[in-house]
Amino acid sequence: MSTIMSTTPTTAASRLDPMDLAGIDDLLTDDEVAVRSSVRQLCERSIDPFVADWFERGSIDDPRGLARELGSLGLLGMHLEGYGCAGMSAVDYGLACLELEASDSGVRSLVSVQGSLAMFAIWRWGSEEQKQEWLPRMATGEAIGCFGLTEPDHGSDPGSMRTRARRDGDDWVLDGAKMWITNGPIADVAVVWAQTDGGIRGFVVPTDSPGFSAPEIKHKMSLRASVTGELVLAGVRLPADAVLPGVRGLKGPLSCLSEARFGIVWGSLGAARSSLDTARRYAIGREQFGRPIAGFQLTQQKLADMALELVKGQLLALHLGRRKDAGVLCPEQVSLGKLNNVRESLEICRTSRTILGANGISLEYPVIRHMNNLESVLTYEGTVEMHTLVVGQAMTGLAAFR
Ligand SMILES: Cc1cc2nc3c(=O)[nH]c(=O)nc-3n(C[C@H](O)[C@H](O)[C@H](O)COP(=O)(O)OP(=O)(O)OC[C@H]3O[C@@H](n4cnc5c(N)ncnc54)[C@H](O)[C@@H]3O)c2cc1C
Repeated sequence: MSTIMSTTPTTAASRLDPMDLAGIDDLLTDDEVAVRSSVRQLCERSIDPFVADWFERGSIDDPRGLARELGSLGLLGMHLEGYGCAGMSAVDYGLACLELEASDSGVRSLVSVQGSLAMFAIWRWGSEEQKQEWLPRMATGEAIGCFGLTEPDHGSDPGSMRTRARRDGDDWVLDGAKMWITNGPIADVAVVWAQTDGGIRGFVVPTDSPGFSAPEIKHKMSLRASVTGELVLAGVRLPADAVLPGVRGLKGPLSCLSEARFGIVWGSLGAARSSLDTARRYAIGREQFGRPIAGFQLTQQKLADMALELVKGQLLALHLGRRKDAGVLCPEQVSLGKLNNVRESLEICRTSRTILGANGISLEYPVIRHMNNLESVLTYEGTVEMHTLVVGQAMTGLAAFR
């Protein structure tokens, strides 16, 4: 009689992929699997051998070269149509984010900010001239973009921003500061959100404009393989057509953030998958008390719990991706995904870290790097608390933000 306590794997079990126990790959099309494989190949060739060193030094060797390589595979503005963009599906984009973040959240951040924030803002709300000028070069990685919303004193509450754009004749003049801006110091173009007499507007700012500077933020212990900076706008004079004509108010930046958060729903799972796989292999190879630590029930409990959360996160991401491709994904659903998947991925990284013992704190393994990176991912693009409040509002109809 077969028993669930059997110690020998069943035939079916022996065929199981330990990192895809639920068989989620069966839910993907052949084309989606092919997209994922080509992104993984790029990661294995151009990111994985170097990224621990970039993280340790807090500097990517050649961010522009990396951007061009990512662009050559169509990963920049990947889910946008036209203007040299690849026009792939939301699920393709999600799978790409997952693979990139399995290498490093910093590299995925470069891609997210470029495609989902800077390019999306221009693609969705820009004039035809703005699109023609920037999008083709940004899709190839020849031009790098950043997205300036957060300020030193206004993060979760961007509606209170102080950066101001005033009219001077036909021109606009921008004054203010943005903080924690990914890609800022290496960007060719900044999408900057500012208060005007007519509400919050977005501006396309070439970074060689007089009065614009982007000093790098140092001393980060997270996302060290990503360039982060401040944007200083000291009387930056722009022509009348620098404003994004298609949107007014917070709807503009929030629409872009929803795009980028969708990528994070998937991407964070990459950091989790990499950490869990590292912990699983380590546990099988590491012996204490005369046997592999993978053979101890407490270790197996950790591995099983992490596998469960990874599977649940993947199913949620795929479900949201299918909804996005069907045009029925709403921002509250993206909040559900971002809240759950980043929080659980961070827990997976922390638990994986414990399985590696002292080795878990070493950059010889990717786990502590992923764990530290996800501390930023937990905070940016809306903190855990903000997404909790979004979900709470969706459930009760009551806003608890202020
Ligand atoms: C590495 C990195 C890269 C980033 N890249 C970008 C970028 O490219 N562009 C950009 O514009 N921004 C970027 N950010 C900024 C990021 O979006 C903000 O850090 C984030 O929105 C939170 O703002 P804050 O840090 O000012 O925290 P605060 O808003 O000051 O919040 C501090 C704490 O208070 C909590 N809190 C605030 N209000 C409430 C409330 N009503 N109820 C309960 N809790 C509350 C928050 O959840 C948080 O826990 C980046 C941040 C990091 C770390």
